[in-house]
Amino acid sequence: MTLKVYFDNGATTPLKPEVLEAMTPYFCEVYGNPSSLHSAGAAAARAVQSARETVSKCINAEPAEIIFTGSGTEADNIAINGVLSALEKIQIARGVNGKGHIIISAIEHHGVLYIAKKLKAQGYEVSYIGVDKTGKVNPQEVVNAVKDNTLIISIMHANNEVGTIQPIAEIAEKLSKVNSGRAQRVYFHSDCVQSAGKIALDVKALGVDLVSIASHKFYGPKGVGVLYVKKGVPVAPILFGGAQERGLRPGTENVAGIVGFAKAFEIAVENLDKNAEYVSKLCASLCNGILSTVPETVVNGSLEKSVSGIVNIGFKCIEGEAILLKLSQAGVAVSTGSACATDSVEPSHVLSAMGVDTLAAAGAVRFSLGCQNTKEEVDYVLSILPKIVEDLRKMSPLWKS
Ligand SMILES: *Cc1c(COP(=O)(O)O)cnc(C)c1O
Repeated sequence: MTLKVYFDNGATTPLKPEVLEAMTPYFCEVYGNPSSLHSAGAAAARAVQSARETVSKCINAEPAEIIFTGSGTEADNIAINGVLSALEKIQIARGVNGKGHIIISAIEHHGVLYIAKKLKAQGYEVSYIGVDKTGKVNPQEVVNAVKDNTLIISIMHANNEVGTIQPIAEIAEKLSKVNSGRAQRVYFHSDCVQSAGKIALDVKALGVDLVSIASHKFYGPKGVGVLYVKKGVPVAPILFGGAQERGLRPGTENVAGIVGFAKAFEIAVENLDKNAEYVSKLCASLCNGILSTVPETVVNGSLEKSVSGIVNIGFKCIEGEAILLKLSQAGVAVSTGSACATDSVEPSHVLSAMGVDTLAAAGAVRFSLGCQNTKEEVDYVLSILPKIVEDLRKMSPLWKS
């Protein structure tokens, strides 16, 4: 069955033709190495610099605060490990014992979750902040978790499984009060991969120190990310070998990818409100359609508090994977949990943290819509889904009891 409907934009999005067009000269024509001193290198370096300026404007930052990386995950790694590496020396110089403490939310993307796991194995203390049933952290709870040895907090802006938007600015504001009385500041990182290009991202208004972004979530190329590092925030290299990107991301730049990142971000930011309105409407009609035609279904999270495009639905008494496969046979692409977790049998850590019980979480499906999707596609899915669920439930011993 060929793909008819792509409702997995939370995993990745198709490249926009205008973005491909902007990237194209940087493969065969402007192919110099930005580090080379000749004119071919200078042309490539200018393209990277221009992209840096564009990206900085999109998030209200300075060009020097933008580091191009190989992905959103890599940006998360450079941010958290880089800050801790920089602080380690300062801590040792101060005679502070122990590795220190970090705080993350319980619903972070694996990009952050697994960094925390690794840090814990290395001797850091880790606090996981829980969420309410819509998937939201309580800002006061985040700052209450700060201890004498806390070094960094990482809380995502929008969750990739349920779409919940976190109160980042509120956390930052409370944290700045905590920080004013401390010898060692607590730094604040936010994984904004799922919010960038969908909701306004003003790093000054958010009050964050570090932000991760990836362009393939907003119709840009895969394999290129951005880390925003606020001026003055200490980040030591965790990768070695070259001076590119202030030494934080050594290796020859992905010039075409960087140009594509900037172009895609510029287009997304220009059309932010229009796209959000369009996608929210589509999403609401899909969600309402499912709830009214398929019995025993629930919305995990809250559509109102969600980044536009993501709706997570729990279908009771059946497996999300089974629905995914049936939909795939009918030409519809969706996901269960996040794409990166498909090889695990554990229930989603996000839904568990939200208090969704294990059985209900097993039947969760994430529909993530984008601005290329249409009402006809929503109608198509609504025309086949009730029968798919009904057939699966007929085979489910849970449903019979
Ligand atoms: C997709 C995603 C990432 C990972 O980005 P990559 O560029 O695929 O490494 C990180 N965090 C969130 C919230 C995401 O949705």
